[in-house]
Amino acid sequence: ATPTSISVASGMAFKQGIMYKGGEFFEIANKINAIAFDKTGTLTKGKPELIDFIGDKETLQLTASIEAHSNHPIADAIKFAYDGTLLEVTDFEVLVGLGLKGKINQDAIYVGSKKLANELKVEIPYDGEKYLNEGKTVFYTIKNNEVINMITIADEIKDGVKELIQTLKSRGIKPFMITGDEEKTARYIAQLVGIDDVYASVLPQEKAQIVETIQNEGYVCAFVGDGINDAPALKMADVGIAVSNGSDIAINSSDVTLMHQDLSLVLDAIDLSLATLKNIY
Ligand code: ADP
Ligand code: MG
Repeated sequence: ATPTSISVASGMAFKQGIMYKGGEFFEIANKINAIAFDKTGTLTKGKPELIDFIGDKETLQLTASIEAHSNHPIADAIKFAYDGTLLEVTDFEVLVGLGLKGKINQDAIYVGSKKLANELKVEIPYDGEKYLNEGKTVFYTIKNNEVINMITIADEIKDGVKELIQTLKSRGIKPFMITGDEEKTARYIAQLVGIDDVYASVLPQEKAQIVETIQNEGYVCAFVGDGINDAPALKMADVGIAVSNGSDIAINSSDVTLMHQDLSLVLDAIDLSLATLKNIY
């Protein structure tokens, strides 16, 4: 592609809400035949609601105090649901793809996934099965090696995702889901939107490895994501697509940024590059 035609297309793209970083996208987008999607904040709205709290009421203060330092969608749900006082947190750390940790008074507090609890080798005295089967995300608060509560949240699927997946399939583009959330939750959401191939419970680096595996199977693979946890996969993909209000790290790691939440922009981006190529060659 000549620089001129690319800048013209970029102008058109910009008006539609698609931002390109470089010209390479135009060379490769017509070859994309697999697209892997992150779940939380990409296929779903990333504005989850706290649905169930199971545990001693007082423990919610510990959870909320830790989440107050996070800007993960899960943290927003907690901030919205809890209006009590917060405790001081020291040694706060984000465990990307797993949860959070910090110290409150002298206690070590973790908030995060079942995988995190497993890694810490603590037993979970709650049954999350029912919630997982409803497509909810389930996470836990751990105080000094003891799980003290279970929280479930639900996140709505974005409008038009099912139709987008259908269109991709009809064009011979295979959709995948790659998520840090649990298998059952992931499967539930995937089945609602029509994605058959699901990779769940994966850490950020593993997301990138899965993209590489898909590429090694012969696919030209795009990845669509929003979070810090998606950065490695966005870099690995043939085309990394960040959705708007994604983290700065996601946007920096991507080739294309969608400037609004509507995922049909993914298709518009591909169409635009196809149209551009036709004009050039
Ligand atoms: P996704 O791949 O779906 O965007 P993440 O990789 O961000 O998900 O997170 C994976 C899992 O880690 C979540 O489903 C949740 O269980 C846990 N987790 C991540 N961040 C937090 C947080 N701030 N509070 C509680 N749990 C979290
Ligand atoms: Mg996400």
